[in-house]
Amino acid sequence: MSDPIPSERAATCAFYPGSFDPLTIGHMNIIARGLRVFDRVIVALAPNVNKQAMFTLAERKSLIEKCFADEPRITVTIFEGLMVEAALRHGATAVLRGLRGVADFEYEFQMSTMNTLLAPQIETVFMMTEKSHFFVSSKLVREVASLGGDVSPLVPPEVLVALHERAAKP
Ligand code: ADP
Repeated sequence: MSDPIPSERAATCAFYPGSFDPLTIGHMNIIARGLRVFDRVIVALAPNVNKQAMFTLAERKSLIEKCFADEPRITVTIFEGLMVEAALRHGATAVLRGLRGVADFEYEFQMSTMNTLLAPQIETVFMMTEKSHFFVSSKLVREVASLGGDVSPLVPPEVLVALHERAAKP
Protein backbone atom coordinates (compact mmCIF):
# COMPACT_ATOMS: atom_id res chain seq x y z
CA MET A 1 0.00 0.00 0.00
CA SER A 2 1.27 3.47 -0.82
CA ASP A 3 2.07 6.03 1.87
CA PRO A 4 -0.80 8.37 2.78
CA ILE A 5 -0.57 11.79 1.11
CA PRO A 6 -1.52 14.64 3.46
CA SER A 7 -4.69 16.41 2.27
CA GLU A 8 -3.80 19.80 3.77
CA ARG A 9 -0.58 21.65 4.37
CA ALA A 10 -0.28 23.34 7.76
CA ALA A 11 2.34 26.02 8.48
CA THR A 12 5.73 24.37 8.26
CA CYS A 13 8.35 24.56 10.94
CA ALA A 14 11.86 23.11 10.79
CA PHE A 15 13.78 22.02 13.86
CA TYR A 16 17.50 22.59 13.20
CA PRO A 17 19.49 20.76 15.90
CA GLY A 18 23.20 21.01 16.54
CA SER A 19 25.82 22.20 18.96
CA PHE A 20 26.54 25.56 17.25
CA ASP A 21 29.71 26.02 19.32
CA PRO A 22 29.92 28.59 17.82
CA LEU A 23 27.47 29.57 15.06
CA THR A 24 29.28 29.78 11.70
CA ILE A 25 28.44 31.09 8.24
CA GLY A 26 27.79 27.44 7.29
CA HIS A 27 24.96 27.24 9.84
CA MET A 28 23.65 30.69 8.87
CA ASN A 29 23.44 29.65 5.24
CA ILE A 30 21.43 26.52 6.10
CA ILE A 31 19.07 28.59 8.31
CA ALA A 32 18.56 31.24 5.61
CA ARG A 33 17.87 28.62 2.94
CA GLY A 34 15.65 26.75 5.42
CA LEU A 35 13.45 29.84 5.60
CA ARG A 36 12.89 29.66 1.84
CA VAL A 37 11.34 26.23 2.33
CA PHE A 38 9.80 26.46 5.82
CA ASP A 39 7.62 29.13 7.46
CA ARG A 40 9.71 29.01 10.64
CA VAL A 41 13.06 27.61 11.76
CA ILE A 42 13.83 26.65 15.36
CA VAL A 43 17.57 26.54 16.02
CA ALA A 44 17.84 23.84 18.69
CA LEU A 45 20.89 23.58 20.89
CA ALA A 46 21.76 20.12 22.10
CA PRO A 47 24.19 19.53 24.93
CA ASN A 48 26.97 17.62 23.17
CA VAL A 49 28.62 15.18 25.52
CA ASN A 50 31.45 14.26 23.13
CA LYS A 51 32.78 17.73 22.56
CA GLN A 52 34.79 20.07 24.73
CA ALA A 53 32.52 23.12 24.59
CA MET A 54 33.98 26.59 24.12
CA PHE A 55 30.75 28.47 24.95
CA THR A 56 28.06 27.46 27.45
CA LEU A 57 24.63 26.60 26.08
CA ALA A 58 23.25 29.89 27.45
CA GLU A 59 26.07 31.85 25.76
CA ARG A 60 25.48 30.07 22.43
CA LYS A 61 21.73 30.68 22.65
CA SER A 62 22.16 34.37 23.34
CA LEU A 63 24.73 34.72 20.52
CA ILE A 64 22.40 33.07 17.98
CA GLU A 65 19.49 35.24 19.18
CA LYS A 66 21.64 38.35 18.70
CA CYS A 67 22.60 37.29 15.18
CA PHE A 68 18.94 36.80 14.17
CA ALA A 69 17.39 39.58 16.27
CA ASP A 70 15.64 41.05 13.20
CA GLU A 71 14.14 37.77 11.98
CA PRO A 72 10.94 36.81 13.85
CA ARG A 73 10.68 33.52 11.93
CA ILE A 74 13.79 32.20 13.69
CA THR A 75 13.67 31.11 17.33
CA VAL A 76 16.36 29.49 19.45
CA THR A 77 15.84 26.82 22.05
CA ILE A 78 17.85 24.41 24.22
CA PHE A 79 16.63 20.83 24.44
CA GLU A 80 17.44 17.70 26.38
CA GLY A 81 16.67 14.07 25.64
CA LEU A 82 15.53 12.67 22.33
CA MET A 83 15.81 15.20 19.51
CA VAL A 84 12.69 14.01 17.65
CA GLU A 85 10.60 14.23 20.83
CA ALA A 86 11.80 17.80 21.35
CA ALA A 87 11.03 18.60 17.71
CA LEU A 88 7.47 17.24 18.03
CA ARG A 89 6.96 19.10 21.34
CA HIS A 90 7.86 22.33 19.54
CA GLY A 91 5.36 21.60 16.75
CA ALA A 92 8.06 21.09 14.11
CA THR A 93 7.05 19.41 10.86
CA ALA A 94 10.61 18.51 9.82
CA VAL A 95 14.16 18.23 11.06
CA LEU A 96 16.66 20.29 9.08
CA ARG A 97 20.28 19.18 8.68
CA GLY A 98 23.21 20.32 6.56
CA LEU A 99 25.52 18.00 4.64
CA ARG A 100 29.12 18.96 3.94
CA GLY A 101 30.20 15.77 2.23
CA VAL A 102 30.61 12.04 2.60
CA ALA A 103 32.02 12.44 6.11
CA ASP A 104 28.69 13.95 7.28
CA PHE A 105 26.62 11.55 5.18
CA GLU A 106 27.41 8.32 7.04
CA TYR A 107 26.47 9.74 10.45
CA GLU A 108 23.45 11.67 9.14
CA PHE A 109 22.13 8.60 7.33
CA GLN A 110 22.26 6.55 10.54
CA MET A 111 20.68 9.32 12.60
CA SER A 112 17.83 10.01 10.19
CA THR A 113 17.05 6.30 9.86
CA MET A 114 16.91 5.97 13.65
CA ASN A 115 14.81 9.13 13.95
CA THR A 116 12.32 7.84 11.37
CA LEU A 117 12.01 4.68 13.45
CA LEU A 118 11.37 6.75 16.59
CA ALA A 119 9.02 9.29 15.00
CA PRO A 120 7.89 8.40 11.45
CA GLN A 121 5.65 11.49 11.30
CA ILE A 122 8.63 13.86 11.17
CA GLU A 123 10.79 14.08 8.05
CA THR A 124 14.49 14.90 8.00
CA VAL A 125 15.34 17.37 5.25
CA PHE A 126 18.97 17.71 4.14
CA MET A 127 20.52 20.69 2.45
CA MET A 128 23.86 20.45 0.72
CA THR A 129 26.39 22.95 1.93
CA GLU A 130 27.00 26.05 -0.12
CA LYS A 131 30.15 25.10 -2.09
CA SER A 132 32.32 27.77 -0.46
CA HIS A 133 31.30 26.52 3.03
CA PHE A 134 32.09 22.84 2.74
CA PHE A 135 35.23 23.16 4.90
CA VAL A 136 33.60 25.40 7.54
CA SER A 137 32.98 23.73 10.90
CA SER A 138 32.62 24.96 14.48
CA LYS A 139 35.52 22.70 15.44
CA LEU A 140 37.85 24.35 12.93
CA VAL A 141 36.73 27.81 14.04
CA ARG A 142 37.41 26.94 17.70
CA GLU A 143 40.85 25.51 16.91
CA VAL A 144 42.00 28.37 14.68
CA ALA A 145 40.56 31.06 16.99
CA SER A 146 42.17 29.56 20.09
CA LEU A 147 45.56 29.67 18.30
CA GLY A 148 45.06 33.34 17.46
CA GLY A 149 44.15 32.85 13.78
CA ASP A 150 41.74 35.12 11.91
CA VAL A 151 38.32 33.50 11.60
CA SER A 152 36.46 36.67 10.62
CA PRO A 153 35.39 35.30 7.19
CA LEU A 154 33.83 32.23 8.84
CA VAL A 155 31.62 33.65 11.60
CA PRO A 156 29.12 36.50 12.03
CA PRO A 157 30.49 39.69 13.72
CA GLU A 158 28.69 38.93 17.03
CA VAL A 159 30.49 35.57 17.26
CA LEU A 160 33.84 37.16 16.34
CA VAL A 161 33.49 39.61 19.27
CA ALA A 162 32.68 36.72 21.63
CA LEU A 163 35.72 34.76 20.36
CA HIS A 164 37.97 37.77 20.93
CA GLU A 165 36.58 38.22 24.46
CA ARG A 166 37.17 34.51 25.15
CA ALA A 167 40.75 34.76 23.90
CA ALA A 168 41.34 37.79 26.13
CA LYS A 169 40.16 35.94 29.29
CA PRO A 170 40.55 32.21 28.69
P1 ADP B 1 26.83 18.62 15.22
O1 ADP B 1 27.29 18.67 16.62
O2 ADP B 1 25.64 17.74 14.97
O3 ADP B 1 27.93 18.44 14.21
P2 ADP B 1 26.88 21.29 14.38
O4 ADP B 1 26.60 22.47 15.22
O5 ADP B 1 28.29 21.07 14.01
O6 ADP B 1 26.24 20.04 15.01
O7 ADP B 1 26.03 21.38 13.05
C1 ADP B 1 24.63 21.37 13.05
C2 ADP B 1 24.16 21.07 11.66
O8 ADP B 1 24.70 22.03 10.77
C3 ADP B 1 24.59 19.71 11.12
O9 ADP B 1 23.56 19.21 10.28
C4 ADP B 1 25.81 20.02 10.27
O10 ADP B 1 26.00 19.09 9.24
C5 ADP B 1 25.37 21.37 9.72
N1 ADP B 1 26.53 22.17 9.33
C6 ADP B 1 27.55 22.58 10.09
N2 ADP B 1 28.45 23.29 9.36
C7 ADP B 1 27.97 23.33 8.08
C8 ADP B 1 28.43 23.87 6.84
N3 ADP B 1 29.60 24.53 6.76
N4 ADP B 1 27.66 23.71 5.74
C9 ADP B 1 26.50 23.02 5.82
N5 ADP B 1 26.01 22.46 6.95
C10 ADP B 1 26.73 22.60 8.06
